[in-house]
Amino acid sequence: MTRPRTLVTGGSRGIGAATALRLAHDGHDIALSYVSDKDAAERTADAVRDAGARCVVARADTSREADVERLFDLAQAELGALTGLVNNAGVTAPLGPLADTSTDDLRRVVDVNVLGVLLCCRRAARDMGAAGEGAIVNVSSAAATLGSPGDYVHYAASKAAVDTITLGLAKELGPLGVRVNAVAPGIIDTEIHAASGDPGRAAAAAPGIPLRRPGTAEEVAAAIAWLLSPSAAYTTGTVLRVAGGR
Ligand code: NAP
Repeated sequence: MTRPRTLVTGGSRGIGAATALRLAHDGHDIALSYVSDKDAAERTADAVRDAGARCVVARADTSREADVERLFDLAQAELGALTGLVNNAGVTAPLGPLADTSTDDLRRVVDVNVLGVLLCCRRAARDMGAAGEGAIVNVSSAAATLGSPGDYVHYAASKAAVDTITLGLAKELGPLGVRVNAVAPGIIDTEIHAASGDPGRAAAAAPGIPLRRPGTAEEVAAAIAWLLSPSAAYTTGTVLRVAGGR
């Protein structure tokens, strides 16, 4: 049997790194991308290879069309046609009300979280649609349905767009044999909170979460792995919430 071949964008750290490793243990060969933290990407790639998988690493800003095209070309030249795509790369911005958010921060979040997902989905739609098989999992957020007032309304809106992309593309690609789903994590303990200006955000959120703790990257990775697996063969167009009840 041939092994599944899956590209994880933003696979260097956090949820993406946990997903790359989980998929490697599940028997996937992996391509993973990063944008700035080459050392973290190489560390994750080493762990993926230690798990017995082939692994391609590439720097690619997913908000840039040329980078995305080069990433897919490289991954498929090294691994063969991709059977899976995890659109995980994403950014928040400094925490705060919309009134205090700069245009540059708005643009960056929309560019990476929406345009980046569209560019990767478009390339996967072309390649997987032509092959007649494949599965895409987009990493959305519980913020899409909570709105994130006072924190990052623009980020929440970008993730609502991811949910809509998932729904529409699932309907477009279903007849071609390609499934498209999303996961919507709640507050997960990764470095993204430090990047948005509050390293203690995940721990501080615990009392407001029904399960009384933040989630782990591995718990999100498990949901992504299921959605990519044959066990989810009749599941498409859904957003699976992994948010501890939030
Ligand atoms: P993280 O620890 O900050 O990791 C972000 C990853 O995305 C890194 O691998 C980073 O690469 C990569 N990345 C950032 N901008 C990129 C770009 N323009 N092009 C390519 N790669 C880029 O974040 P995380 O918490 O794991 O988040 C992963 C995804 O889950 C995001 O889409 C995020 O919105 C979503 N999410 C997270 C949470 C949470 O609480 N953590 C909750 C809901 C949804 P470098 O290592 O090179 O910087």
